[in-house]
Amino acid sequence: MKKGNLSKLIRPNVLALKAYEAREIPCTVKLDANESPYSPLPLEKVFLKKDILGLLNRYPDPEAKALKKALAKNLKVTEKNILFGNGSDELIYYLITTFGGPVLFPVPTFVMYGVIAQALGEKAIAIALDDDFDLNIDRMLAIIKKDKPKLVFLSSPNNPTGNCFSTDRMMKIIEASKGIVAVDEAYAPFSSNRGFLPLLRDYPNLIILRTMSKIGFAALRVGYMIADSGLIQEVNKVRLPYNLNSLSQSVALEGIKNKKIVEAQIRIITSERDRLFDELSAIEGISPFPSEANFILFKVPDAGKIAQGLLTHGVLVKNMDKMVPNAIRVTVGLPCENTLFIGALKKVLPKKIVKTQK
Ligand code: PMP
Repeated sequence: MKKGNLSKLIRPNVLALKAYEAREIPCTVKLDANESPYSPLPLEKVFLKKDILGLLNRYPDPEAKALKKALAKNLKVTEKNILFGNGSDELIYYLITTFGGPVLFPVPTFVMYGVIAQALGEKAIAIALDDDFDLNIDRMLAIIKKDKPKLVFLSSPNNPTGNCFSTDRMMKIIEASKGIVAVDEAYAPFSSNRGFLPLLRDYPNLIILRTMSKIGFAALRVGYMIADSGLIQEVNKVRLPYNLNSLSQSVALEGIKNKKIVEAQIRIITSERDRLFDELSAIEGISPFPSEANFILFKVPDAGKIAQGLLTHGVLVKNMDKMVPNAIRVTVGLPCENTLFIGALKKVLPKKIVKTQK
């Protein structure tokens, strides 16, 4: 093959994609990726669990049986209702592989719904949220009627806006949809809403996506979906064998066994989120949006400059300007990190704004 001919071989939908960039930016306070600031279990404790880990020369348990059993008990569903993914990212891949498009989602939202639809050559339909970051229900219902999407993704709480969509609008979508509705509850542990799990019984087209990534186990890549057992069986056909490695299965099981520790950390994170919200609200020139997640989106005079300025103080946040003009997303960190972030933010805000501060 001649040099330069590679692009001719690549499917146009892939050629048009940009690789997902998760850059490692050096910083002292990392508040950009919606991770938990706490690692719930000491590594020495989890790596000594030889029983589940087994031998290194053997493949992991393909069904993650022990982990599934513990999770099913915890969620009060049967093991047949659960499917694991290497992160919920992988499950989004599997869902679009299984059902195809059109894939409908509101925007701004989690970017992977659109990226994976494009990677798989499926049509993606993105409908702007309304001014309150809630679902534009009339437009979404019209698309459901006209384009008959095979899949609808609703991230609630939504990343990056932080709010939950109103339940009645979500219900209208679930009821009107002839396809599958995947409610992505990655941030549900931080929300006061009870979530959609109790509705699974009544709506066979409903899927709940959850993850252990936001509650202290991002390194493991353990995501799971909960759905009707027939639906799980179908999606399971496209799952790669051994997609959840032994270390992840073993540590995730320990995480579930130690859920009291995890829950206590979640309580600190939500109370810190509320403190951060109040402190951000008190700064002139900053407008935070209420959040049900472990991050806060806020408007600033110039997101690019302020994110860069924060980094000079060692604080890494996510510039969301391309999705929400002049917005930054900050993950809730340790109490001391949050205090550092607020201090740095006041320093990097334009002088005029800081002077007039209450
Ligand atoms: N859904 C949402 C809404 C997210 O924000 C994220 C992570 N950014 C994910 C899913 C993916 O999570 P993971 O693959 O780590 O389970």
